Amino acid sequence: MAVQRTFSIIKPDATARNLTGKITSKFEEQGLRIVASKRIRMSRLQAREFYGVHKERPFYDELVEYMVSGPVVVQVLEGENAVARNREIMGATDPSKAAAGTIRKEFAENIERNSVHGSDSPENAANEIRFFFSDTEIVG
Ligand code: ADP
Ligand code: MG
Repeated sequence: MAVQRTFSIIKPDATARNLTGKITSKFEEQGLRIVASKRIRMSRLQAREFYGVHKERPFYDELVEYMVSGPVVVQVLEGENAVARNREIMGATDPSKAAAGTIRKEFAENIERNSVHGSDSPENAANEIRFFFSDTEIVG
């Protein structure tokens, strides 16, 4: 498997509890390199578009409000098999089902306030990276 890039968000529940460094360390300790990172306040429009795939789900409006409720850190992670690797490091969406040692098991508050987003396929990773970063902001 070649070196790959994936997209990550440290979500508002985690920035509120000052967990940016601890979460970033999990990526670095497990072989992913942060090749781009910025702390932003997502607009409602951005959040609605970013999570557009979930717009028919009952939790969509609440999810959008949560994502704009505080700062987030958007990042590009690089490494071998980075998309799947990051999903392993994050753990299951529902923290009560996440494996020991994963970010969500250690830090998530509940199924919505689950501390991190990570792309679920290489295609989505490319689209999500482009949604938040220009090429010159990514330094490998
Ligand atoms: P993942 O982030 O693990 O890829 P999904 O893509 O299914 O999970 O969902 C996107 C985000 O929507 C989740 O990370 C979580 O913040 C929120 N979410 C998912 N399922 C629920 C739910 N049943 N109730 C509330 N929020 C949810
Ligand atoms: Mg998802």
